[in-house]
Amino acid sequence: ASTPLEKKVVLITGASSGIGEATARHLAAAGHQVMAGARRTDRLAELAREVRGANGALDHCALDVTRRDSVESFVDAALDRYGRIDVLVNNAGVMPLAPMADLRVDEWDRMIDVNVRGTLYGIAAVLPRMREQGGGHIVNIASVAGHRVDPTAAVYCATKYAVRALSEGLRQESRDIRVTVISPGFTDSELLDRGGAVEAQAAARAAARQLAIPASAVAEAIGFALDQPATVDVNEIVVRPTVQG
Ligand code: NDP
Repeated sequence: ASTPLEKKVVLITGASSGIGEATARHLAAAGHQVMAGARRTDRLAELAREVRGANGALDHCALDVTRRDSVESFVDAALDRYGRIDVLVNNAGVMPLAPMADLRVDEWDRMIDVNVRGTLYGIAAVLPRMREQGGGHIVNIASVAGHRVDPTAAVYCATKYAVRALSEGLRQESRDIRVTVISPGFTDSELLDRGGAVEAQAAARAAARQLAIPASAVAEAIGFALDQPATVDVNEIVVRPTVQG
């Protein structure tokens, strides 16, 4: 691993696949110290083995962002391991697509719990500590779906609009904490493999196959925001495939 200008302790939620995993790899390779969280701890253990094999610093911890106690334990684990928290990447998210008329209310709840409540629990768990330290950086993964609404994605879009709204509010209230929103377009990951209505998921999968950019492209955008001087807050990066309309 190379040494960055400033080595940071970075917590990443949802680091067991896709964008979170790519970000963990990218930041560890850049010399940062990473705490990776998700429910699939077997994936995280494998990631830790690989990163450490390349002389990177990555530890992991079981995390369910829908449970406040679990998010707090995750943050405590990072503090035990590294002694401080510089960056939290609120990345964990789910996107089961379906028309609203299908009334898949359990999936609406899950999107709200993971995408919105999970992000808020993350903020709640690190904010006091960052204030004590006199600074910190919260990176929230929203989406192009936080800028526009598409059929079968109403609730998902609503959660991503919410992520952008709460990020902007936090930014306005903060003078020592940087807040960055990352809004990806179609990105190669496992996002479309979990739930949703068969037809809606198949349509999105077909589009993703045609369009998707690699998760590493989003990881690099996150790395760019982290590497700016403390006085510079990159508020939002929208990164989408050139061919995406
Ligand atoms: P993946 O499905 O590959 O990754 C999602 C991650 O979230 C997994 O690591 C999963 O881990 C984790 N996760 C899900 N539920 C929970 C939970 N309750 N607690 C903790 N972790 C959880 O998809 P992506 O990489 O694509 O998704 C990452 C983020 O990027 C999401 O917020 C998504 O909305 C956003 N995004 C993705 C786009 C894309 O096209 N792929 C476009 C725009 C935004 P585990 O199941 O092991 O807990």
